[in-house]
Amino acid sequence: MQDLLRVEHLSTHFHTDEGTVKAVDDISFRVKKGETVCIVGESGCGKSITAMSIMGLVQAQGSSGVVGGSIHFGGENLLGLSRNELRTLRGNEMSMIFQEPMSSLNPVMTIGEQLAEPLRIHRKLGKKAAAKQALELISQVGISRPAQIMNSYPHELSGGMLQRIMIAIAISCGPKLLIADEPTTALDVTIQAQILDMLRTFKAESDMSIMLITHDLGVVAEMADYVVVMYAGKIVEEGEVEALFADPKHPYTQGLLRSKPVLGQLQEELYSIPGQVPDPLELTESCYFHDRCEFCMEVCKVREPALSSVGERQKAACWLYEEASVYV
Ligand code: SF4
Ligand code: MG
Repeated sequence: MQDLLRVEHLSTHFHTDEGTVKAVDDISFRVKKGETVCIVGESGCGKSITAMSIMGLVQAQGSSGVVGGSIHFGGENLLGLSRNELRTLRGNEMSMIFQEPMSSLNPVMTIGEQLAEPLRIHRKLGKKAAAKQALELISQVGISRPAQIMNSYPHELSGGMLQRIMIAIAISCGPKLLIADEPTTALDVTIQAQILDMLRTFKAESDMSIMLITHDLGVVAEMADYVVVMYAGKIVEEGEVEALFADPKHPYTQGLLRSKPVLGQLQEELYSIPGQVPDPLELTESCYFHDRCEFCMEVCKVREPALSSVGERQKAACWLYEEASVYV
């Protein structure tokens, strides 16, 4: 399969009065054509900043922002594009949906108008044609009585309906890549399953690729072809979903998988990894997971492990898989 998106050595840093926050630090991964890649990790690990960096939505201020690396999309380095070129690409070739659809929709425009807008701008459709297409899109995302919905305002719809509308807007121009940042986190389980199902159907019908950000391993199991695990701005493990679920190598991935609820199996209390993601301002040369890791060795506290192969198409950054003893 051909690469659609190739992120190489991407770093996004923010300079604050207290120091530099390396929100994303030297990460590389690919999304192939027609593939779903899930970026997984607890909140504050750099998943959303990675997505925003790809979409060109990180505000560069002074030396803050994307400070290194490249983002190739369909052969072109997005970091070299002008604001206008990026805007054309967004909505056309790549689009994004967020956890809170309400924050992306305009409260004073009808659903119909908001659906028609990208079609008029990017597809150059006339008013009538755009409205007709908007109507079709509403039915496509499984909403009944589309004509009535066309004239509704966002506040009149439920969270699940709004997320369907966001998806309709996101797919309206036939993007090659859909980036979804926790798209079902705010929804109840039944609606969540319907939305994921819908994304899978669209992907199958259109050969679109999906980059899905989630902290939910259940969602990963449902959706992913390939999984990238992030921790404190770094990739700590990656691999094909079957391999990674069957044999997670990094203690962080092992912890995440232990915290996943098992269907049909009542658990008294869900396991959660003890401790928390380190303060980005207090990171020192080490494995950033060391103070939460039950396998921590001396080397882990003073040296950062490199991401290296631990199987076929599976990589992990952990001293357990390196000849660590030579460094101690
Ligand atoms: Fe644990 Fe060390 Fe591996 Fe980090 S490098 S995950 S501290 S064993
Ligand atoms: Mg996030």
